[in-house]
Amino acid sequence: MPLGIRIGRVIQVAAIVVLTIGMALATGAAVRAEGPALSDARIGLHDGQTRFVLEFTQSVPYKIFTLAEPDRIVIDLPSVDWRGPKSGQAGGRGLISGYRHGLFKPGITRVVIDLAAPASVAKHFVLGAGGGAGPRVVVDLAPAARTIQSAEPEESASWAAYAAELSRTSPTETAAAPPTDSSKRIIVIDPGHGGVDPGAIGASGIYEKKVVLSFAQTLKRVLESTGRYDVVMTRDRDIFIPLRDRYQVAHSVNAGLFLSIHADSHNSSNLRGLSVYTLSDKASDREAEDLAKKENLSDVLAGTDLTGYEADVTSILISLAQQSVKQSSALFAETLVDEMKNSVQLLRNPHRFAGFAVLKSPNVPSVLIELGYLSNRSDEANLLSDAQREKMATSMVRAIDLYFDRKETLERS
Ligand SMILES: [Zn+2]
Repeated sequence: MPLGIRIGRVIQVAAIVVLTIGMALATGAAVRAEGPALSDARIGLHDGQTRFVLEFTQSVPYKIFTLAEPDRIVIDLPSVDWRGPKSGQAGGRGLISGYRHGLFKPGITRVVIDLAAPASVAKHFVLGAGGGAGPRVVVDLAPAARTIQSAEPEESASWAAYAAELSRTSPTETAAAPPTDSSKRIIVIDPGHGGVDPGAIGASGIYEKKVVLSFAQTLKRVLESTGRYDVVMTRDRDIFIPLRDRYQVAHSVNAGLFLSIHADSHNSSNLRGLSVYTLSDKASDREAEDLAKKENLSDVLAGTDLTGYEADVTSILISLAQQSVKQSSALFAETLVDEMKNSVQLLRNPHRFAGFAVLKSPNVPSVLIELGYLSNRSDEANLLSDAQREKMATSMVRAIDLYFDRKETLERS
């Protein structure tokens, strides 16, 4: 991507995130208030083809395209009130192994269909209301030798008008400004996943994206109540943010620390405890390596086209200039682990490292915190308890205070 466009994108994202959340919400609300609801989503099998049907309360424009490796079909819609099957319950049939949905950006609901076998879109069309059903978007998938990525999305007739209206009403022009009180340190909190990417799914069916957002909101409040910190969130609602845009927010506001907040799940429901990860091109262990691979899938799950920057995201090369940031990240991780053991159970070897794409900031010390395992009843209960979240956030703030003290001492000596 040319640098100009990239910077434009960063400013756009940061503007939405930092300054104009209110405006973005207002825009989203305006679109939603007049907008349609999705009443059902279903899969049918006809003559060797797999039919995917989205039914609405009123007709909607849409955009559709295919992505390969992994093979997916993506359908973008105006932001709709989703009353169909929930992401975790949407099973597959025929050529479809499953599908997810969620807010992709303000004004856009995205549906990502995972393919069970290579396929092509044989046809897609709109069916008007009739026979007791509302207007429908119908997509017929046919088996193919391999899935071929779309060069261009295909759009329904009214999509262009919707997209033009959206870009006119969305806040894209306002530049991001870091908080202005220079006596305070800036911490960026990054609640993992969001929108079309639910993250891990808990023992009770709760989504990681929701749990980590509530924790992040608690941590923000506790941090700001000290009077020493300003907090910027990469997202403050259920919306997808690409991994790269997350750490670029930290860069654009000149943050002192970047905390990516997650909660894991595991096949073994006995496994529990908090762990902290820093960036490394060589993983500390096999589990950390697998976890990084899983967390790095976020953009793929959301149906983002990675052509052109996949190599950048997946290859982690630490330059000399990044060494001091790497050391600061490790110092914070150690301080955090030491402090957190007072308020939560820790995983064994709680500070680990691997190639997490979201930790790639070259100039902001960054850690990824797995608060615990949603697959474990005790960890899940703790994360759903206001009192426990408060206790964990308080320990985290103490670690942040200590870290900045230690760093200053080191820099003076
Ligand atoms: Zn996660």
